[in-house]
Amino acid sequence: MSESKDFNSSVHPDWCPGCGDFGLLSALKKVFPLLNLEPHQIMTVSGIGCSSNLPGFINTYGMHTLHGRALPIAQGFKLANHEMTVVAMGGDGDGYGIGVGHFVHAMRRNVDVTYVVMNNAIYGLTTGQTSPTSALKMKTKSTPFGNPELPLNPLTLALASGCSFVARVYTGHVPQLVEVFKRAIQHQGFALVDTFSPCVTFNKLDTHEFYKQNVKDINQNGHDISDIMAAFREATATDYIATGIFYAEERPCYEASEEETLTEPLYKHPLSISNEAGEKLIAEFV
Ligand code: SF4
Repeated sequence: MSESKDFNSSVHPDWCPGCGDFGLLSALKKVFPLLNLEPHQIMTVSGIGCSSNLPGFINTYGMHTLHGRALPIAQGFKLANHEMTVVAMGGDGDGYGIGVGHFVHAMRRNVDVTYVVMNNAIYGLTTGQTSPTSALKMKTKSTPFGNPELPLNPLTLALASGCSFVARVYTGHVPQLVEVFKRAIQHQGFALVDTFSPCVTFNKLDTHEFYKQNVKDINQNGHDISDIMAAFREATATDYIATGIFYAEERPCYEASEEETLTEPLYKHPLSISNEAGEKLIAEFV
């Protein structure tokens, strides 16, 4: 049985004090033992950005990939070895900007990957430019006269793209985060957990204080998670900011629909070439 401390890494986070990403890291370390997962059974995959440094700060298998490319790598990894629990992660610029095409196709494909977005509505690593989720009229280094673009709503995009599990949590609410992560990882299919993870250094609008005052856990109020229209309504509510599980649907994940090739993980399939030829091929890539 694993414990939370088994997931501690020897590398300490270099995030700014107060960064919302700390809450998310803490919740992940709590949830894996609750699911009886050991470090060697988990793969964390990230893109580029402050939040994407997370695989270095947790003791699991991990891969820090390219900007916006966490999802192709995570899906490939899951198909190669679907005995592993795969958690992809990154920020809003990474996942909802440069990676948005991968995001949409991963959701309709429904590979069994949990995707956690640390959404702070700003580019933090590059010191404060407007991101796809920055508010209209928000002043940043790249929009000194105010952001002229409407922000993207990742939840309505996910619901419209066939995402089979859609959730959102503020990272300051760690118990709720743990509960939602647990359900997301248990879900058989693609699960989006969008998180409000404040950037205390560059975003002075979407602060811890703002979320503490405005979020409302819809799972405490009888929200029906099988009702997609109710999920759309909560995702577009304006008099409060809804958090919790918005929508969950049971449908075969991609691996289950590929029974002929994926009954066994791909890595267990015979290569149909000699070991010598296989090693030569691998050597070309390393
Ligand atoms: Fe977190 Fe913002 Fe600091 Fe990056 S710049 S570590 S997102 S607070």
